[in-house]
Amino acid sequence: MAQIDDLPPLREVIANHGLNAKKSLGQNFLLDLNLTSRIARSAGSLEDCTVLEIGPGPGGLTRALLASGAKKVVAIEKDSRCLPALAQIADHYPGRLEVIEGDALQIDPVSITGGDKVRIAANLPYNVGTQLLINWITTETWPPFWSSLTLMFQKEVGERIAAVPGSKAYGRLGVLAGWRCKGGILFDISPKAFTPPPKVTSAVVHLTPNNKPLPCDLKSLERVTAAAFGQRRKMLRASLKSLAPNTESLIEDAGLRPTARAEEIDIEGFVVLSNVFRDAATSA
Ligand code: SAM
Repeated sequence: MAQIDDLPPLREVIANHGLNAKKSLGQNFLLDLNLTSRIARSAGSLEDCTVLEIGPGPGGLTRALLASGAKKVVAIEKDSRCLPALAQIADHYPGRLEVIEGDALQIDPVSITGGDKVRIAANLPYNVGTQLLINWITTETWPPFWSSLTLMFQKEVGERIAAVPGSKAYGRLGVLAGWRCKGGILFDISPKAFTPPPKVTSAVVHLTPNNKPLPCDLKSLERVTAAAFGQRRKMLRASLKSLAPNTESLIEDAGLRPTARAEEIDIEGFVVLSNVFRDAATSA
């Protein structure tokens, strides 16, 4: 692919700034411009919104987001070694890139994106990616502050996010994501596309908020899915036993079989089950 901007090639940026990848920060840099551009395009129209990027590193995806017209990118990076390379990008796109040094798990995303329409796009560090996703899909306010998530995960995590009932990958993450979001895996990326190559294939996931998710108490949903999938081979009457004294009749009240196992229950089933358990706890 031809250059997407007049900045130095990413390999040169990495060499010039001594950005040898740190495993502890989940650093696998994506240097292929076709792929960074494809991820940026997958995020949708960026001209009228702020893109929140987590972990820009040397700035490959950041550059693709800006080159494809993002009005503004706000990027959180934990590794201070990356800041000079990112400052060069900010100079190249005046007023359009703001870099915040810090831990994305500790920074309130709403306060740094200034109430603008937000799309989140990132090649996430594997060690905090799932927690960040859970934070974004469990915000109290719904619809949330973001209008789309375009995120790269290890493929196995992508499969858990997009999993349907009855599949091996179906679990808490699939229920949470499926309850509040629409979307799934867009495409896979081979380990060879990264420097250094990770051990496993990656996948780009695109999610948009389901604006009217079935009414459900989030805490109860988290409790019920944790218990049900925590012992996924057991029948619900056993796995949910610790949650209420009359488990079996509550499962029946939810219209489900007490002998069913977690992976047989669809999202609507979990929502009804969570509401029944919540009501039983509040009336006790
Ligand atoms: N976006 C770059 C790319 O696609 O080549 C780098 C992606 S690399 C998989 C993950 C990046 O996240 C690294 O730059 C790493 O330093 C950064 N990072 C790791 N943990 C972080 C955290 N808690 N908060 C913010 N950034 C983090």
